[in-house]
Amino acid sequence: MKKTIRDLKGLKGKKVLLRCDFNVPLDKYGDILDDTRIYAALPTIEYLVEHEAKVIIVSHLGRPKGYDKYLSLFPVAVYLMKWFPNKVKFASEPIGKEVDREVANLKNGEILLLENIRFVQGEEENSPKLVEELAKLGDIYVNDAFGVCHRKHASTYGVAIKLPNAIGFLVEKELKVFEEAFKTPKRPFVAIFGGAKIDDKINLIRNIMDNVMQQGDSILIGGGMAYTFLQAQGIQIGKSIVSLDKVDEAKKVLAEAEKKGIKVLLPVDHVALLKEKDKVVRTKKLSGDMIGLDIGNLTIKMFVKEIMEANQILWNGPVGKYEDPRFKKGTMKIAKAVGKSVAYSIVGGGDSISAINASGVADSVNHLSTGGGASLKLMEGKPLPAIEVIDEV
Ligand code: AMP
Repeated sequence: MKKTIRDLKGLKGKKVLLRCDFNVPLDKYGDILDDTRIYAALPTIEYLVEHEAKVIIVSHLGRPKGYDKYLSLFPVAVYLMKWFPNKVKFASEPIGKEVDREVANLKNGEILLLENIRFVQGEEENSPKLVEELAKLGDIYVNDAFGVCHRKHASTYGVAIKLPNAIGFLVEKELKVFEEAFKTPKRPFVAIFGGAKIDDKINLIRNIMDNVMQQGDSILIGGGMAYTFLQAQGIQIGKSIVSLDKVDEAKKVLAEAEKKGIKVLLPVDHVALLKEKDKVVRTKKLSGDMIGLDIGNLTIKMFVKEIMEANQILWNGPVGKYEDPRFKKGTMKIAKAVGKSVAYSIVGGGDSISAINASGVADSVNHLSTGGGASLKLMEGKPLPAIEVIDEV
């Protein structure tokens, strides 16, 4: 079992380098549009503050190429100040002499949030120089950044090797939820997949089918990825998005599911765009120039029925191009159904979580996962490098 912050003794006065995932959406005024990820890290920060550690927080935000004032973590520092009055300081650089001074002046129970770690070179390359600079800031390293645990970066991987370490409460909870859900699923287990790209989800579907699901469980596939499966069945998909190199694999998945008695439900009707005329049509058959961009009413009904009969639900990816109001109905109906269902529910991926929040059902979902890529890797049965390097108890 991995060490957690509960296993760290004598935190008082210790410098704890805490990796959080504060990669939150900001508007052009620097206002935080969705605080899910910061809120989820509060229990770990609170624990460290209560135990009078000196808390130095490292995070990234977006994909800056050098300094970018629109990707500063200052708005996050302001947010934290509301939760921890008079305890939060902000370092306007992620590393350097100024940071060293601020760390040296930090009192027990205070928090220093460092500027976006991706403003300096070496984070994503896991450069030894940056690892050294980060390691000298702390006595202990704690990883509570689930969203980047699949990354071998300086602040998620390199520095963990250099210091005594542990995981925070958020990472502990994420790992536990997925482990339990996959080891001892409640049945029927219904998994819903959507999104544009099939490439990163087909392995996951395979893993779930091979290792988690059994006869009577089902997989609902919507969104852009459904068209590769429909193509595999020889059904016309018009000009909808398709990954031709995955058609054979999709065929194999469908055949295997049939053999195991796992239902795979694909869209039977669509909301499609006729691009030339910029006209939206509802149709059972996608012909000619039609682009399928949302599931139709019959499909919604079929999916909702399945969701309502489930005892465990996993949802990852929107079932339509939901950012466009013309194609958001399917995703919103799925979100509402998942919220309404009494099944144990796990929702992952930014788009599905936005839909859950927009539908006002977030409180009814058992687990909203903060990590898209990391949770996909975990569900594929692959190890997360940043977790692998954490000490065992
Ligand atoms: P992913 O990153 O693979 O989870 O894909 C998320 C994106 O898939 C969202 O931005 C949706 O707009 C998009 N999407 C969902 N359904 C479709 C579709 N039928 N055609 C094209 N894009 C879609």
